[in-house]
Amino acid sequence: MLDKFKPKTNFFKKGTVIIAGAGPGSKKNVTLATYFSIKIADVIIYDGLVGSGVLDYAKKSTKLIFAGKKYGNKSCTQDQIIEWLQIYSVRNKRVLRLKGGDPSIFGRGSEEINALKKLKIDFKILSGITAAQEVFTKSHQKYHLPDKFFTFVTGHKNISDLSMKVKFRDFVDNHSKLIIYMGLSQLKNISEQLIKAGKNRKTRVKIVTNISLDSEKTINSDLGGCLKAKENFGLKPPAIIIID
Ligand code: SAH
Repeated sequence: MLDKFKPKTNFFKKGTVIIAGAGPGSKKNVTLATYFSIKIADVIIYDGLVGSGVLDYAKKSTKLIFAGKKYGNKSCTQDQIIEWLQIYSVRNKRVLRLKGGDPSIFGRGSEEINALKKLKIDFKILSGITAAQEVFTKSHQKYHLPDKFFTFVTGHKNISDLSMKVKFRDFVDNHSKLIIYMGLSQLKNISEQLIKAGKNRKTRVKIVTNISLDSEKTINSDLGGCLKAKENFGLKPPAIIIID
């Protein structure tokens, strides 16, 4: 039925690149535009956070290249990805660079985009549902949705690296709900720093791992207890952490 909504013939030209977001986890989170780009692509270079079911949409003949960088076990470098984008587009293939969630949110898209511009390879970007959006859909009863002020932050290097000078007090003072990507390994640091900056220990914290997959887990805790909860439940990335 979806195929009735066929895109225009020049939607994905040969020799061009589409950088698309596949949404978090489940293939039901793929937008219609990304769905068509998967169906049409000759080569798909995909990240570790792209749910495995998503690739079911691809043609049998499509070349699938895993470019995952799962939690420190780097399986390929950014340079390698750029090389693939170049090689296959020069060979006149339709090259799809598929990323988890939305490609513009903590997706390191800028390095690839800059390289494509430099190489004069035509590309376009298709947005996707970002991981946090899928958490909001589960937040109605226990949590206020971020309808006032919220901050998307990467817990990865930013928060652990003091040289980035993340000011925890600012988050506390402006009452911003924090939506943290890549923060699970930094949870101790983040929660301690926020408490030190004056955030109430009872502030609600929600952690959701493997959003929309069968392995999804949700923990509702508070700032003082979230680290223990993470350990007790053996939570592993990928996770979104929401601090009210
Ligand atoms: N571009 C992606 C984010 C990439 S950064 C997006 O828009 O969602 C990687 C981080 O995204 C992970 O460490 C985790 O915080 C979050 N993430 C992505 N997919 C997820 C999923 N299925 N479940 C939980 N967190 C996810």
